[in-house]
Amino acid sequence: MPIRVLPPDVAAKIAAGEVVERPASVIKELVENAIDAGARSLQVDISQGGRRLMRVADDGCGIPADEVALAVARNATSKLHSADDLYRIRTLGFRGEALASIAAVSRLTLSTRAAGEAVGALIRVEGGALTHREPHARPPGTTVQVENLFFNTPARLKFLRADPTEAGHIARLIASYALAFPGLRYVLQHNDRLVLRTTGTGRLEDALLAIYGLDVLEQMIPLQAEEREEEGVRVWGYVGSPGLQRADRRDVLFFVNGRWIQDRSLAYAVSEAYRTLLPQGRHPLAVLHIALPPEDVDVNIHPTKQEVRFRHDRLVFTAVQRAVRTTLMAHYPVASLSVSTGTGGPWAPGGQGARGGLSPTQAQMALDAYRTGTPPRADRESPFTRPQETPTERLPMLRVLGQIAQTYLIAEGPGGLYLIDQHAAHERIRYEDLADQKARGQVASQELLEPLAIELSPQQAGLLEGRLELLAGYGLEIIPFGGSTYLVKRIPSTLAGGATARDVPAALAEMLDAAERGGEAFSWEEQALITLSCHTAIRAGQTLSLDEMRDLVRKLERCQLPHTCPHGRPTMLHISQAQLEREFGRQ
Ligand code: ADP
Ligand code: MG
Repeated sequence: MPIRVLPPDVAAKIAAGEVVERPASVIKELVENAIDAGARSLQVDISQGGRRLMRVADDGCGIPADEVALAVARNATSKLHSADDLYRIRTLGFRGEALASIAAVSRLTLSTRAAGEAVGALIRVEGGALTHREPHARPPGTTVQVENLFFNTPARLKFLRADPTEAGHIARLIASYALAFPGLRYVLQHNDRLVLRTTGTGRLEDALLAIYGLDVLEQMIPLQAEEREEEGVRVWGYVGSPGLQRADRRDVLFFVNGRWIQDRSLAYAVSEAYRTLLPQGRHPLAVLHIALPPEDVDVNIHPTKQEVRFRHDRLVFTAVQRAVRTTLMAHYPVASLSVSTGTGGPWAPGGQGARGGLSPTQAQMALDAYRTGTPPRADRESPFTRPQETPTERLPMLRVLGQIAQTYLIAEGPGGLYLIDQHAAHERIRYEDLADQKARGQVASQELLEPLAIELSPQQAGLLEGRLELLAGYGLEIIPFGGSTYLVKRIPSTLAGGATARDVPAALAEMLDAAERGGEAFSWEEQALITLSCHTAIRAGQTLSLDEMRDLVRKLERCQLPHTCPHGRPTMLHISQAQLEREFGRQ
C-alpha cells in the first residue's frame, strides 16, 4: 500500500499519544518498521547509550522516492487505510506516528531505495522541519539515523539514565525482537563494539543461544507439542528448568503473533504453572509465542502497543498455563549431585551425571541458587547435555538403607545413591494426596471429640470468614463462636494425632498470614494446601522405623513430582553409580 495520511475519523480511533520516552523507544519503532518492511537483516548501531546516535539499517522493501516526505508526516502510514483495518492488524506498526514523533525531537536522516526504483532518496529533518532532500544511491532498503535525541526538549533529556542503562534497555529490546522473529539476522553495536549478533536461522533455539548462552540454553525445555493447539490458539517456545531462577519477571517473555507484549495475567499463568517447582519470590525464564487469529486480539489499546486485549482471554490463559505445566511435568529432571575430583569439598561440581536430567554442574548451580537465593551464574563451563534420555519425572524403585541425623533417608536405586529429606518428601506426598482427595470431592476428615477453641485478631477473623467453606472442603471445619473466637470441629485425618492442639492453630495462623500478604501471583487455596501439607508432614529430627521409611519412599515413588517439595526445595539428592566409581578410582 502507498503511504497516505489517515482520514481524521480513522486517526481519531487510534490509541494515540505515542511518546518517545528514551532511546529504546526510538529503536523499538525503527526496528518494527524494518520488520514490517520485510527486512531479512537489521544492523543497529548506537553510541553513548543512544543519546548521541542511533542508526537502524535494513534490507527491506524501501520507501518509494515520492513518498519519503510522507513517511515522516504525522498520521501517515502505508499499513492501514480504513477503520476496519484496525481490527485485523498484521503489522507491528499501524499509526503512522512514530517517525513524525521521533523527527520532532531529534535530527533525523532517512535514506532509502524502493526495490523497483533506480535511485533512492535521502532526507534530513531537524526538530520536525524538513531541512534537506537529495537523490541517493544505495542498495534497496532503508536506513534511519537519529542523532541528538531530545536536543530541543531539555526536560526529557534530563530524565535519561546513564549510558550503560540506556544501552541495556536497547540490548534487551533487540534480544526480544530476535526471539520474536528468529528468522531475521540482527547485529547490535554500541560505541562500535559488538553487543549482540544473531544468525537468523529461524530456529528459536539459535536465538536463545545467541542471547543467553549455552549454559542457559541447555537448561531450556521446548514446549511439548501435544498441548499446543487449542481452539485457534497455538503456544510454542521454551521454558527454563526450575534450576534457572530469576529475581524478577524480566525473562518471562510473551510474543503474540510476533509482537512482544507485557501481560500480567499471562505472567500469572506461567507462575501458576511453576508453582511448587520454584521457591516463593523466584521467577522462571520462559520465551512463549502465542499465535491466534489477528481479529481475536486488539493491539490498539496502549500507546506503546505493548499491551493487548484478547477476545477470549480465558482461553489464552489456559492454553499458556497448560502448555507450560505439561512440559514441566514431563521434563522436570532429577537433581543429581556429583562428587568432586578436585578442590571444593565432596559436593562441589565435577564429573558427569549418569542419569538423564541436570548435569552435575547444573544441579550444583541449582542447589547453590536454592541455598543462597541468587540465580545460578551463567558463566560456568559445562558440556552441552540436554536431557535426551527419557525424562525422569518418576522415581525408580529404591531400597531404603537407613536414616542419617534423624532427618535424611539413605537409599539405593538402579541409578546409584539417594539422600532423601524426610520432611520435604513427606510434604510432597501429603500435598499430592490432599489435592487428589479434594479433586475426588472427599478429603478424609475426623471430628474432634472436643472442639478446639481458637482466638483470632479481628483482622484475622475477617480473613478467615470468607474462607471457611474452602477450608471445609479440605476437611478443616471451623465455625464462628461469637466475636473473633472460632471452634475447630473437624480436621483432616492427616492432621489428627498427638499434636493437634498445637498444629491446627499454627497452621491456621500461617494460612491467614499468607492471605494477608497476598501478592499478585497468589492463590490462597494453593497456599492453604501447602500449609496443611507442611503441618502434617513428618518433621526433621524424628526417628523413623525401617518400615516407616520404606512406606515414605514407596509413597514418594508414586508422586507426580517427587523431586521437589511444594515450596520448591529438593526432596532428594542423587549420586550416580558412575560418579561413585570414578571417585573411588574404579573407572
Ligand atoms: P507506521 O509504522 O505506524 O506506519 P511510521 O511513522 O513508523 O508509522 O512509518 C510511516 C511509514 O513509513 C510506514 O507506514 C512505512 O510505509 C514507511 N516506513 C517507515 N520505515 C520504513 C522502513 N524501514 N522500510 C520501509 N518503509 C518504512
Ligand atoms: Mg512504525
